Amino acid sequence: MSSITKNIEKLENELKPYQAQLIAVSKTKPVSDIMEAYEQGFRDFGENKVQELSQKAETMPQDIQWHMIGHLQRNKVKYIAPFVYLIHSIDSLKLLQEVDKQGKRVGRRLQCLLQIHIAEESTKFGLSGEELIELLQSEALMKMDHIQISGLMGMATFTPNESQIRKEFKSLKVLFDKASEFNEQERIQIDILSMGMSNDYKIALEEGSTMIRVGSSIFGSRNYA
Ligand SMILES: *Cc1c(COP(=O)(O)O)cnc(C)c1O
Repeated sequence: MSSITKNIEKLENELKPYQAQLIAVSKTKPVSDIMEAYEQGFRDFGENKVQELSQKAETMPQDIQWHMIGHLQRNKVKYIAPFVYLIHSIDSLKLLQEVDKQGKRVGRRLQCLLQIHIAEESTKFGLSGEELIELLQSEALMKMDHIQISGLMGMATFTPNESQIRKEFKSLKVLFDKASEFNEQERIQIDILSMGMSNDYKIALEEGSTMIRVGSSIFGSRNYA
């Protein structure tokens, strides 16, 4: 068994008690690495750049579920709209409107997560708690027929300080529970909480994550991005 396969099996066993889902973050990694996991039956992969995602999706099997996890520019939504499975990184109403527009163009209802800013670092993207509630209540949202809001995503501060990470994940879980109260609305069905990466997924699971995005612990370390 290859190490990629072994790493996925190990993670899936760790996830079982939490009933959470694993997304294998394949950014910067070659198609051959992804195919190893695919041949084992694994289908959910995450990428953070539109160009790389589109190129991989074009050459790889159609039943892969591609997750867009990186910052998404409005002018690039059109490239991924035809095939993307879940967009984790919606950080503004304007971006959501563009996703709706492109969903309409390709005749799909696109599944989206709202990205929340929970880290101390100002470099990370995302909505504040207030902006989240505002967006969920907005008139504009009621007019979008080609999106589905399926949950929230967040990234903790990159730090060895576990209590800091835990505090940030807890704050995201609180917002997740609050946002779920909007679930009676047609375009809102919040049940995915995407939080946790290689260095902090164990804490994320303890704090209520339902979806972890793991790259380097599966495919090995990256040289860039
Ligand atoms: C790269 C990335 C990950 C995975 O990071 P690892 O530390 O390699 O597990 C998860 N989420 C996002 C948004 C990323 O960009």
